Amino acid sequence: MSRVLHTTADLARAGLVEADAIDALEAVAARYAIAVTPAVAALINPTDPSDPIGLQYLPSPEELISAPGEQADPTGDQIHAPVKGIVHRYPDRLLLTATYACAVYCRFCFRREVVGPGGAGGLTPAELDGALAYIAGHPEVWEVILTGGDPLVLSPRRIADLVRRLSDIPHVKILRVHTRLPVADPEKVSEALVGALSVSRLTLAVGVHVNHARELTPAADAALARLAGAGALLLSQTVLLRGVNDRVEVLGDLMRALVERGVRPYYLHHPDPAPGTARFRVSLAEGQALVRGLRGRYSGLCQPTYVLDIPGGFGKVPAGPAWIESDGAGLTATDPWGGRHPVEAEEPEA
Ligand SMILES: *Cc1c(COP(=O)(O)O)cnc(C)c1O
Ligand code: SF4
Repeated sequence: MSRVLHTTADLARAGLVEADAIDALEAVAARYAIAVTPAVAALINPTDPSDPIGLQYLPSPEELISAPGEQADPTGDQIHAPVKGIVHRYPDRLLLTATYACAVYCRFCFRREVVGPGGAGGLTPAELDGALAYIAGHPEVWEVILTGGDPLVLSPRRIADLVRRLSDIPHVKILRVHTRLPVADPEKVSEALVGALSVSRLTLAVGVHVNHARELTPAADAALARLAGAGALLLSQTVLLRGVNDRVEVLGDLMRALVERGVRPYYLHHPDPAPGTARFRVSLAEGQALVRGLRGRYSGLCQPTYVLDIPGGFGKVPAGPAWIESDGAGLTATDPWGGRHPVEAEEPEA
């Protein structure tokens, strides 16, 4: 296999979906883009319907069923979009969305109503000028986060141009890039692309979206090594997904694999209620139990922060278990194995 699979017929020819499922999946494909790169296709076990890689990328008829609470814009990006291409939720950092295209399309994507090929929602040169003018006009912006879509699908020439223009804005110090490319299409993380990202004075951080240790192939390792070689601070982002990584050992193996490659586990995202993604949803209580299990069994280096993006655009908050709780008489700490211990007596009344 040497080309990207974009249609249900492509997926059927590659043996990744049953031929008699094509009709049902056509309606899904008409609504939500499909892309499976050769690197990803090679990881999917076609005979296992619960394969954790296949689940992330292969369309399902369930995507057209909406469940209560699902929202087209679960993280409320549009509420904080002062100009096209910018989401400014927190004072010191903002998102710059230069493209809505991705190398692969994840079935659980929280921006699934806007991502897709063909530049829909990508920025025209005038819109990019407007977005950069907004950043230049806001001296409190310390960090610019390139997101999308996947910003690294842009050509090295366009990336170098964007990075240079950002570095001309003196108050911007940090350039963070959120990408799935190192695992989705590792060869595309070329020396030219890495060079384009690191041409400037900006400190570069790369947040790599990885959900399962099997995604970290030798080719992905080489892509991460190229980024690290250019001085990028490597961070991970993982989406907690039912059937993909909702077990302590699976998450622990992933976090270890990341740390072994010099990637710092950063966020474990509670799944956002994007339309048609109910089959991936894990409850907060289940997520908290997983986090508790990770803490007891894996190194402190292997502990991402479990975060919830509060639906409606209210921001991300840590969503892990309450380790310390008040029980009236004082504070009680729960250890990673469930034991409870008084740690601080109630302050006497003044
Ligand atoms: C997630 C997010 C950020 C980055 O937040 P960090 O906690 O710094 O990783 C910035 N802006 C918006 C709108 C976000 O959703
Ligand atoms: S790579 Fe990111 S933006 Fe693109 S489909 Fe996957 S989750 Fe969504």
